[in-house]
Amino acid sequence: MIGIYGGTFNPVHYGHLRTALEVRELFELDELRLIPCRLPPHRDQPDVSGEMRYEMLQIAVANTTGLHVDRRELDREGPSYMVDTLKSLREENSGAPLLLFIGADAFAGLERWYQWRRLFDYAHIVVMTRPGYARQPLPDFLQRRLAEDRARLRAQSAGCLFFQAVTLLDISATQIRHLIATGANPQFLLPEAVLAFIQQHQLYQAPY
Ligand code: ATP
Repeated sequence: MIGIYGGTFNPVHYGHLRTALEVRELFELDELRLIPCRLPPHRDQPDVSGEMRYEMLQIAVANTTGLHVDRRELDREGPSYMVDTLKSLREENSGAPLLLFIGADAFAGLERWYQWRRLFDYAHIVVMTRPGYARQPLPDFLQRRLAEDRARLRAQSAGCLFFQAVTLLDISATQIRHLIATGANPQFLLPEAVLAFIQQHQLYQAPY
């Protein structure tokens, strides 16, 4: 089984990394692909380039088995629609279950994603807990897809929805950008090597 963990990663932090590691182990994934977007379709454009966000991710996972950075969205023209990303991953992995991991905050906006229903044609969606986001009642389309246990995700290649509790870490990239811009110390919210890269390139100095 292959896991997919998309995001802006502006910058990558321990909220991403710890949950990525936990789901890789819980779901016994062969690998988990962290996929930085080029142009996020549903939010403001990041002022740090895709290449730099990609580099920070690579630095962050360099020594962690099973976590890989995938640059397909950076190499694709136009907005980074997840449905296109899943379609290309499905073409490369015909029968394997694909699991798309998203935080509960992202799930709350899922119905605004481009062609969101089609995501289930290519993958399962696993929603990870995130502080401040309680579970809401599901519309029929999603309720029908709800899987009760992880084994079900192994038995078919796509189409299910699953909720997974992970360690709740109240860390966000917004908070880190704000700390840096105001001269506060973001140490221990993200890997030291990523922080060193941020300092070297003087990222996130503008007010947020
Ligand atoms: P920003 O503060 O800029 O919105 P972010 O910290 O939410 O950024 P993203 O790169 O937008 O990070 O998130 C990518 C994915 O990681 C999303 O699915 C999001 O829900 C999930 N995620 C981010 N931080 C956490 C966290 N602390 N716990 C669980 N999931 C997280």
